[in-house]
Amino acid sequence: MMSLENVLPDSAEIDSQGQLSIGGCLAVDLAEEHGTPVYVLDEATIRNRCREFVSEFNRLYPGTQVLYASKAYINPALARIFNEEGLGLDVVSGGELAVAQAAGFPLEKVYFHGNNKTPAELEEAVAQGIGRVVVDSFHELDLLNRIAGEAGKVQDILVRVSPGIDPHTHAYTTTGIIDSKFGFSIQTGDAERAIRQALGAANLKLRGLHFHLGSPIFELEPYEAATDLVLRFAAGFREEGLDLEEFSPGGGFAIAYTRDQEPPSVADYAGAIVGTMESTCEELGLSRPKLLVEPGRSIIGPAGVALYRIGAIKDIPGVRKYVSVDGGMGDNIRPALYQASYEVISAGKGNASATETVTIAGKYCESGDVLASDISLPTAEPGDVIAIPASGAYCPSMASNYNLNPRPPMVLVNDGHSRLIRRRESYADMMLCDV
Ligand SMILES: *Cc1c(COP(=O)(O)O)cnc(C)c1O
Repeated sequence: MMSLENVLPDSAEIDSQGQLSIGGCLAVDLAEEHGTPVYVLDEATIRNRCREFVSEFNRLYPGTQVLYASKAYINPALARIFNEEGLGLDVVSGGELAVAQAAGFPLEKVYFHGNNKTPAELEEAVAQGIGRVVVDSFHELDLLNRIAGEAGKVQDILVRVSPGIDPHTHAYTTTGIIDSKFGFSIQTGDAERAIRQALGAANLKLRGLHFHLGSPIFELEPYEAATDLVLRFAAGFREEGLDLEEFSPGGGFAIAYTRDQEPPSVADYAGAIVGTMESTCEELGLSRPKLLVEPGRSIIGPAGVALYRIGAIKDIPGVRKYVSVDGGMGDNIRPALYQASYEVISAGKGNASATETVTIAGKYCESGDVLASDISLPTAEPGDVIAIPASGAYCPSMASNYNLNPRPPMVLVNDGHSRLIRRRESYADMMLCDV
């Protein structure tokens, strides 16, 4: 189904005047009130996606714990929503852990990932009583065993394995193949050595295994193949004392960025993963581990819409028409980093027919600062507000102060109300750390 609905948040509407609204708030009003660029997050979409993951997985596999991958975007207000919805959290840095802590998030439901956690980060995590550390290297196994011992604790861990399965996504977002900085490779024998070392570590308790293939993954088959492979691998260590209490196939669930994309549904992913777990566990006589799933993009991505205002327009006859907006690669690096594509909607002219093909450029001093190439729009004029849907994940969380542009505010909308959950940075904020 080639429809804009594929990319818009659940509550979004385009009325008979062609006005886009999100959460019952007109996009042009939000742009006026909060300035542009601004990121609008639809609370209904966030909660609906959380509930869909919880219900679809638990329907097939009771006891599944959904962990929100914070790196897609987190702040304290959102952490409280995820807690209300019964999710746990994945964090990948001391900073994300600090947000969880500031929000009063139950730390026993926080899992700490990353290929090179620093000694200070591991010390903080252990001291605060983090639920699990997902160990990614031999260096970390030694370091964490020592840190836990010094703290007089036994730290629960998972071991991250790399199953050597290609999920057919962008090379920069592929993580579970042999040539990856992440995880212990099963093929090279590292994973085997890591499990033995973990089982023998006095201050670590190995609770299970984790893998994460990459993102976004539009196919089900990589999840099935990797789940089967890792469970078979785990079964080989039963005699050596590996009790697979927990198993995580990571995140990476895809969303539609453009109207023609049709990712599998949450139910499809759940069916594929759970179906494989059930058949493989049964075949091997393996008792069923607790399932963890770690969606990030698929929860926050569809909820976000970025609003920009059009400024300069440069028409190069026979070549290209550049329509420049007041944001760009500083708030959304994805097109420049991995050729990501987006839809662009004229927020106040949503029902006018497209009259021209334009390229939406940002305001940053890089020729690669393009948000969307060769898209169709109703005649673009300076002052128009444009909306880029599916912007909730990996846009604000990767934002920078390049060119010393302040990072945009985040506004949560619901039922006709908007709530600022992060204000726009000021120039003073950007100089706060300069000494
Ligand atoms: C990034 C990441 C995720 C989430 O990926 P999404 O594509 O946002 O769902 C889950 N688990 C781990 C370990 C990750 O690094």
